[in-house]
Amino acid sequence: MTKNLSDKLQELENLKNEILSSSLCPELAQTATNLVFGTGNADADIVFVGEAPGKKEDITGEPFVGASGKRLDGLLSSVKLKRTDVYITNIVKYRPPDNRDPTPDEKKQFWPYLLRQIAIIKPKVVATLGRHSGQVFIKDLRISDDHGHPRRVAVSVDGRKELIEVLPLYHPAAALYNGSLRKTLLEDFKIVAKLLNIN
Ligand code: URA
Repeated sequence: MTKNLSDKLQELENLKNEILSSSLCPELAQTATNLVFGTGNADADIVFVGEAPGKKEDITGEPFVGASGKRLDGLLSSVKLKRTDVYITNIVKYRPPDNRDPTPDEKKQFWPYLLRQIAIIKPKVVATLGRHSGQVFIKDLRISDDHGHPRRVAVSVDGRKELIEVLPLYHPAAALYNGSLRKTLLEDFKIVAKLLNIN
């Protein structure tokens, strides 16, 4: 059965409250200012999954609002997408102190919630940004070989088997310091457009 937008918004709100009232990653929750749950269009055809909030995201409660967010906006606009067309979240939804990498245990704890978030939105494509989010879907991911190549991934959501189309991408922050990765990301966003039948 297809859900309407208001059902999806309500279910996402319930899921966010469930995380807030659980004891998920208590050390991270204690040092974080906000839970950065996700923003954008709950009816989107594409969900972008980053790694974890940084300082600005922690303060505002919104994903990708800092320097990587500006890069992501540029990549989206290269295929005529706006933030309001897509949904953006992270695998780990509390900021790790000092922007350290999220640990395997933190990713494992947030994983079922990410899957439920995706199951509510039901996008055509899940685009992972960087290896942390890529590897939760594709265990043997080698980002240098696998970026830009979509794959069907079988996952289990609340005991149900589902197939998700996953497109691994480099993290936009990688393009901040590396001009050739900037080109690679722009090329890979053409695959995004193709998968979504836009342009
Ligand atoms: N990097 C991420 O992976 N996620 C954010 O929300 C911000 C920066």
